[in-house]
Amino acid sequence: MIVILKQNPDKNQLNNLVGWLKKNDIDVHESQGSHSRLLGLIGDTSNLDIDMLRALEIVEDVKRIQEPYKNANRKFHPLDTVIEVGNTKIGGGNLTLIAGPCSVESEEQICSIAREVKACGATLLRGGAFKPRTSPYSFQGLRGEGIELLLEAKKETGLPIVSEIMDISQLDLFRDVDVIQVGARNMQNFELLKALGRTQKPILLKRGLASTIEELLMSAEYIMAGNNPNVILCERGIRTFETKTRNTLDLSAVPVLKQLTHLPVIIDPSHATGISKLVHPMALGAVAVGADGLIIEVHNDPAHALCDGAQSITPEAYKSLVANCMQIHPFRAKYNAE
Ligand code: PEP
Ligand code: MN
Repeated sequence: MIVILKQNPDKNQLNNLVGWLKKNDIDVHESQGSHSRLLGLIGDTSNLDIDMLRALEIVEDVKRIQEPYKNANRKFHPLDTVIEVGNTKIGGGNLTLIAGPCSVESEEQICSIAREVKACGATLLRGGAFKPRTSPYSFQGLRGEGIELLLEAKKETGLPIVSEIMDISQLDLFRDVDVIQVGARNMQNFELLKALGRTQKPILLKRGLASTIEELLMSAEYIMAGNNPNVILCERGIRTFETKTRNTLDLSAVPVLKQLTHLPVIIDPSHATGISKLVHPMALGAVAVGADGLIIEVHNDPAHALCDGAQSITPEAYKSLVANCMQIHPFRAKYNAE
């Protein structure tokens, strides 16, 4: 439930209201929008008398909210969340460029790709150390060594790093990783989400292969309910009947999510399409609909990549993609903060 307060509410009356709500086991989250001040009521509000609340002198209006996600809900937090990682701001109209190989393969590979994507304008380096592969016989990633190599590349280039965690037991290894990715297959690993909620790390949460937008938001809620507000949502394609692409990129998830939540929303056109030639056009589409960023697989030798070579683009291709995306960024769809 949300209580919208009148301008300059009387302090004593406000304290009385908040105290009374807390006595009734209701948590009160105050937030200040650019035009109004709101109280987000969290807990069992089913017994509250809306008309009684509306009748209070300091109250402008009261709204029941149906959505089960409270922390991620834009109604409680009208302004865009902006997450700072290194010198980069994620959310709030910025275009964050995350790029790098699907998996870390060697020091030479990750460092040279890091230098190249940085020169193209990327501000974060991605690279998988723990790889969720469909086949147990496929390359599983360099694991702890992969994280070490990413940290080398970070030291050399200054780019903050993004890498995927697959299990709670790996958490210690991610101590110096700047953004922890939760992959599509782990979007509903609730114990992992709860553990990440106990950290303050930025979490890049990917939408599950067959998950609804509401399920994605509920997974974000798991992290946020633990007191970690730093969640970045990522649409990376969903399973449909279509077989010409690896997944179907749900671009409409961007405007839908932007209305429902204040969290940053980024797009992964690499996993969404599975085809390197489709990455550029879908990246342009993502920027046009107002995505806050792009995470793209870039490899110096896609034909010999140990993972996801078919969807990886070369640094040269990435350079032109970034140049074109930057050109259309000023014309993107924009979403009002309130
Ligand atoms: C990845 O980013 O390499 C990855 C495995 O992503 P997803 O979870 O979206 O499949
Ligand atoms: Mn991949």
